[in-house]
Amino acid sequence: MNIHEFQARELFAEFGVATQPGKVAYTPEEAESVALGLSAGKLVIKAQIHAGGRGKGTFKSGFKGGVHLCNTPSEAKDLAFKMLGQILVTHQTGPEGKEVGKIFVGEAVDIARELYFAILIDRATSVPVVIASTQGGVDIETVAEKSPEKILRIPVNPFLGLQPYQTRVIASSLGLTGPLMNQASSLFSNLYRLFIGRDCSMVEVNPLVVTTDGRLLALDAKFNFDDNALYRQPSIVAMRDVTEEDQREVEASKYGLNYIGLEGNIACLVNGAGLAMATMDIIQHAGGSPANFLDVGGGATREQVASAFRIILADKSVKGILVNIFGGIMDCDVIAHGIVEAAKETGLSIPLVVRLEGNNVEAGKRTLAESGLKLEGAENILDAARRIVAAVNVNA
Ligand code: GDP
Ligand code: MG
Repeated sequence: MNIHEFQARELFAEFGVATQPGKVAYTPEEAESVALGLSAGKLVIKAQIHAGGRGKGTFKSGFKGGVHLCNTPSEAKDLAFKMLGQILVTHQTGPEGKEVGKIFVGEAVDIARELYFAILIDRATSVPVVIASTQGGVDIETVAEKSPEKILRIPVNPFLGLQPYQTRVIASSLGLTGPLMNQASSLFSNLYRLFIGRDCSMVEVNPLVVTTDGRLLALDAKFNFDDNALYRQPSIVAMRDVTEEDQREVEASKYGLNYIGLEGNIACLVNGAGLAMATMDIIQHAGGSPANFLDVGGGATREQVASAFRIILADKSVKGILVNIFGGIMDCDVIAHGIVEAAKETGLSIPLVVRLEGNNVEAGKRTLAESGLKLEGAENILDAARRIVAAVNVNA
């Protein structure tokens, strides 16, 4: 799960991570009144969307930049007017962009240096790792590619936590000395406490800045939370903004389905994540393009399968469906009943290819055959993929 920058700043305040004052605003008038309540001369106005790269983004209206500096509350109001309700496209939103429904209005600071600081779970070693770099404000991926030596990685023992000597090593490698080293040590350890305390899988501060008056501040924040820990993080769940998420994924999460929306037109319904990935690969191999990743799990119920099917059919870009089930624990007949139920209810009008194999497959095939649904069976995965690609191409 992700949150907005203004919500990240609420977490910063709670855990004592230094940042600049400011507030969220939903209308131009509100932006002006937030600005009036701030004390700094200069202001920063930032579009709030679940995507980075806002500074370099462009609105579909032609207005450039999702992050702006200005001098007066009335300029803040004008900028808010240009951003709110508009679609912002950044390198992370995809070409369709994201509508800006709120903005952050804060006290702007004068920046001396922009640094990069992140904590994430390293899957290879299964421990939190701190990533820091003197090359902040820019794409860290570009830094990693062009000058990997400028990126510091410090693994953290999860039982000991981030140790004071480690915060000093990080600070000194970022060139933070004297009073800045003390600020850095407390900022890093507070951020680590936040990372652990709120079950984050990633927190990225880019940029972490040194101001011209010698303060170290987190100026931007991107969080990812471990979905499996949300049950014990009610305050984080309360920050969820479903308008920022893929609506198909929001719907799927209600039924406990592992669904990820993609750009293609062949939907797939599969049991098991590995088989789902293989199915997407083989669709691509047969010349098609998958519309989603969908793993209904090893123990899906008839209701879950029917919901999965409804979500697929509600997606207007879907032109064909491939069901690929290998029944191990899964009973093929349960899948068959789920498909029939949802297909009848929604009036299936696009090609459907079903490959069923394994546990209780004969009953499953019989259920499908007796349902009167128009569908094609397949011998194996490759055959199934070729059939659905052919059927979609004929209808195109
Ligand atoms: P992003 O583009 O979505 O990553 O948004 P950021 O919050 O990182 O802002 C983009 C850039 O705007 C930063 O890298 C800074 O260079 C600049 N910026 C953001 N806030 C301030 C500020 O208070 N003062 C100044 N001078 N620049 C800022
Ligand atoms: Mg940034």
